[in-house]
Amino acid sequence: MAAFQSRYFQSHCHAACFQQQRSACCSKDGIVTFFADLVVNAVVSEPSALDALIASLRTPRNDMKCVYLGPAGCRWQLKPIVCEMFICDRAKLEVFAASSRASAMWDALKKEEMSFRWPDQVVLFDELESRFMAAGVSSSLMYLHNSPGLIRIKKKAGLL
Ligand code: SF4
Ligand code: SF4
Repeated sequence: MAAFQSRYFQSHCHAACFQQQRSACCSKDGIVTFFADLVVNAVVSEPSALDALIASLRTPRNDMKCVYLGPAGCRWQLKPIVCEMFICDRAKLEVFAASSRASAMWDALKKEEMSFRWPDQVVLFDELESRFMAAGVSSSLMYLHNSPGLIRIKKKAGLL
């Protein structure tokens, strides 16, 4: 996804938002974090990077931006999947109108995203929650186990 963003959207986003410092990305309360996002990020992070995340939670920003946004960008080593996959509608419209290849790649990436977190089949995010729950961990971010909508999908798929 990072390579895709960099290839197809970097220049668009730079011109559309960053030059004028008015990006709609990384806005306050605009983030959905799954429990598995935290686990995956922890696995790939040095302790100092995790300390930086905790420090940012202890010193909330005063502007309308995400608490995890630092001077050098997102403080997560591997962003939450919803953030990683976020591209605004306007940017998609413009970039995909100019490149059918980019549009096809986006469709494939969205499909891959769902294979991690959409429980109409066995998915990694559900498995990670289950294993941590079995070890006695509980979190309100375990949406695969506590979101009525996602539970309904699991039931429909015969996974419950
Ligand atoms: S995705 Fe949209 S809102 Fe975000 S930086 Fe790019 S153009 Fe701006
Ligand atoms: S977690 Fe990172 S990518 Fe997601 S909104 Fe916050 S700063 Fe942006």
